[in-house]
Amino acid sequence: MSTQPTASHFINGKYVEDAAGEDIPVIYPATGEVIATLHAATPAIVDQALAAAKAAQSTWAGWSGTERGRVLRCAADIMRERNHDLSVLETYDTGKPYQETSVVDATSGADALEYFGGLAAAITGEHIQLGDDFVYTRREPLGVCVGIGAWNYPTQIACWKGAPALACGNTMVFKPSETTPLCALKVAEIMIEAGAPPGVYNVIQGYGAVGASLITDPRVDKVSLTGSVPTGKKVYAAAAEGVRHVTMELGGKSPLVIFDDADLENAVSGAILGNFYSSGQVCSNGTRVFVQKGIKEAFLTRLTERLSGVKMGDPQDPDVNFGPMVSERQRDIVEGFIAKGKEEGARLVTGGNGVDRPGFYLEPTVFADVTDEMTIATDEIFGPVMSVLDFDTEEEVLRRANATDFGLAAGVFTANLTRAHRMAAGFEAGTCYINTYNDAPVEAPFGGTKQSGVGRENSKAAIEHYSQIKGVYVRMGDLEAPF
Ligand code: NAD
Repeated sequence: MSTQPTASHFINGKYVEDAAGEDIPVIYPATGEVIATLHAATPAIVDQALAAAKAAQSTWAGWSGTERGRVLRCAADIMRERNHDLSVLETYDTGKPYQETSVVDATSGADALEYFGGLAAAITGEHIQLGDDFVYTRREPLGVCVGIGAWNYPTQIACWKGAPALACGNTMVFKPSETTPLCALKVAEIMIEAGAPPGVYNVIQGYGAVGASLITDPRVDKVSLTGSVPTGKKVYAAAAEGVRHVTMELGGKSPLVIFDDADLENAVSGAILGNFYSSGQVCSNGTRVFVQKGIKEAFLTRLTERLSGVKMGDPQDPDVNFGPMVSERQRDIVEGFIAKGKEEGARLVTGGNGVDRPGFYLEPTVFADVTDEMTIATDEIFGPVMSVLDFDTEEEVLRRANATDFGLAAGVFTANLTRAHRMAAGFEAGTCYINTYNDAPVEAPFGGTKQSGVGRENSKAAIEHYSQIKGVYVRMGDLEAPF
């Protein structure tokens, strides 16, 4: 395996190029330099990928679950063996520090491949006895699945979608984000090396228009998107035209509630993990940090002290723990929100500035005295900006926490056991955390409620979203009819 992908697309088991496609410059976020130029898929490339996926699907579905699972588990082993190279590439693609990518990205992709590889043989139907007659169900694949990725976790997203899809006997055409196009190509290479037949897992590049052209193709049976709510609405509507299955992993503005009785050090850790990991570019981040009034000043003091441990710099340096924003555009968007926070009267506790070095760096930023209506408390920022809001009572904070159209995640820090579970039950969110934040093990379902999404990734729940049930009625005796 060469460390770098060797062409823009990976179709039917090999790298494919079509230089007629629009340029996609790959910019290293830590320096702003163009490190590669790829090409968006032309209609001919889109057709080639879908034709390959369609042709491979029935053969792949004809393999036993054990055989399919073996391929996925082998791919997981290869990913773990090559973790270093894949992590270096992930850092070039996203700018996230190697300190993170070496323990999160290829490893979590490998976890998904291993988990769904293990489940593949256990994907079965059931038997329903009806007197002498009976019904049996077959759990069948959907067919050709399209995966469309966001730019924050390119390897992980390619695997979180690909692993359950392939385990169920589907084939996939995956389109990574145009901002981070490199990593998914390596996932495709590894699938083939692990023994997947050509055409089972394909990757093509492109901007939104390529994604849109995939969704409406009659060969496509399912679309799984990770992206923003506005894109999700477009993709959901386009999929509805053809009554296609969907999984929507969209944005959030999640609440993190810290009660007076919480362990202060753990609560600060949760707030750091839920706001500044990956420079804040995590969909489930708890960016509305509600802190009960009695602990507020202690929380802000300790948080500010702990932020002195931030080490910005070359993200390939294993000692660096805070990288740049993924792109100049994203940095500008986040700077716009910081300006809005100041303008609307929030108190800037720390950060708020760019950094005097090449690349798209921003300081970790904390605002206090934020109120519910401020733009920084209502809009997804997707950058290292924490909003701290005050509250008095449990009833009040739950109502305010839920007063949003988003519903991806929510967290609570408290020593009160029953209150913790009451809060988890009351949160309108797909994933809740008690005395922790942002864990995403493959064994647990992940996904949003309200406008944050439809469907679940990971866990056994994902199988429901990549397969369909067929009921087969079997009559054992004669069949009566009225005439
Ligand atoms: P985005 O919505 O701009 O783009 C996502 C993907 O959709 C890209 O690959 C893009 O090319 C494609 N796309 C754009 N328009 C399209 C169209 N009309 N038809 C088909 N495809 C189209 O999102 P982004 O900026 O790449 O990522 C950040 C967003 O993703 C944030 O809102 C974040 O919360 C969300 N996100 C969600 C999760 C989750 O699991 N819920 C995970 C990561 C990121």
